[in-house]
Amino acid sequence: MPKRTREERNSGYYDEKAEAMDRAERAAFQEKEAIRILRYAYANAPGYKKFLAERGVIPGAVKNIGDFSRLPVLKKNRMPEFHQTTPPFGGFLAVPVDKLKRIYVSPGPIYDPEGRKEDYWGLRKCLYNVGFRPGDIVMNTFSYHLTPAGIFLDEACNGIGCVTVPTGVGNTEIQAKTMTGLKVNGYIGVPSFLMSLIKKWEELGYGAGNDLTLEIALVAAEMLPPSLRRGLNDYGIIVRQAYITADLGGVAYECPAENGMHVSDDLYLEICDPVTGEPLPAGGIGEVVVTTLGNECYPLIRYGTGDLSALDEGTCACGRTSCRLKGILGRADEVTKIKGMFVHPRQVDEAAAQFPAEVEKIRVLVTREGVTDIMTVEIQLKAGVAETDTLKSSLEERLRESTKLRGSVVFVREIPEGSKKIEDRRTWH
Ligand SMILES: [Zn+2]
Repeated sequence: MPKRTREERNSGYYDEKAEAMDRAERAAFQEKEAIRILRYAYANAPGYKKFLAERGVIPGAVKNIGDFSRLPVLKKNRMPEFHQTTPPFGGFLAVPVDKLKRIYVSPGPIYDPEGRKEDYWGLRKCLYNVGFRPGDIVMNTFSYHLTPAGIFLDEACNGIGCVTVPTGVGNTEIQAKTMTGLKVNGYIGVPSFLMSLIKKWEELGYGAGNDLTLEIALVAAEMLPPSLRRGLNDYGIIVRQAYITADLGGVAYECPAENGMHVSDDLYLEICDPVTGEPLPAGGIGEVVVTTLGNECYPLIRYGTGDLSALDEGTCACGRTSCRLKGILGRADEVTKIKGMFVHPRQVDEAAAQFPAEVEKIRVLVTREGVTDIMTVEIQLKAGVAETDTLKSSLEERLRESTKLRGSVVFVREIPEGSKKIEDRRTWH
């Protein structure tokens, strides 16, 4: 198979019609489908009926997307409990168990059902839009048992005409040899393992006069730092991310613009206050709450994933009209709400990372004066670094960029060992 150019991989949509749908059309489609699936779940899944009835919801009264957004969030972290008390699947399954194709076991313990619908997890589109093409020889390094990722992506590869080499996790040396032996040009797995594979491949003496055949990689389930992406790009590999979960399948994927992940058209995705479940204004960081629109097997309605992200509603250079998720920013149970904004420890670290020569440690203290939240940022400087006003104001500037909040920096001699990154000292009377 000849090498495919970057242009070939970047051009074309998996589903022309859906991805070019205008915003108003998409909103109308989502509203209609969200209400339909709510009524369907209520009628066919006894667990939903119970969950909604206990919270006073009458599906017939949900008339528009505004009403829909006030439905209670079904939190993913409560699912193991529901599954245990009401087998099978907490009563959320809308078809008899014998109609399923597979049942996956995840830690928790929780079981994730898969129906028989073609491309059940919506991952073909995700692979294609990321840049995989028919005929690619793809090494799939996700595990094929106990976690669903291996089979999910294997099936999706076959669905778009790729050839899979199911290698699973580990055995780096065999995998490195396989890359050259089979002229593998696609990789699926976590990004750090891809880099380990390439290093092993070089260590084994490949490289000189024997070019790496890899062209495209889909990475998921781990953070992709920009430096790692650049490092992999230097080997001539296009590296793109996707947001895939065991219960929802393909949620979002990166396009050639590599600037956020487009939300799949089969879902209605909201970014919500992790506590109240209310949708946040555009751009705010909150919990990813998903409704599966076309899933009549195991419909999930306002399902709180526990993952944090923000939505970019701007237009994308690639021409797709769907909104983009700005990456997965952390877990919803790690955020602190300050002045009405959710702040995650990672945002604080991000700001500190801009000053590698100066900052030893950082900690945010949240207090309250009257009705106002006060954010104080303690900085422990490296030995010998002077406490200047210039440094103080550039630190404050960076923090404002990463948290969107104004805080004041104070230099301290020592931040105690083991202290929390964001310490909430507010008292509520
Ligand atoms: Zn795009």
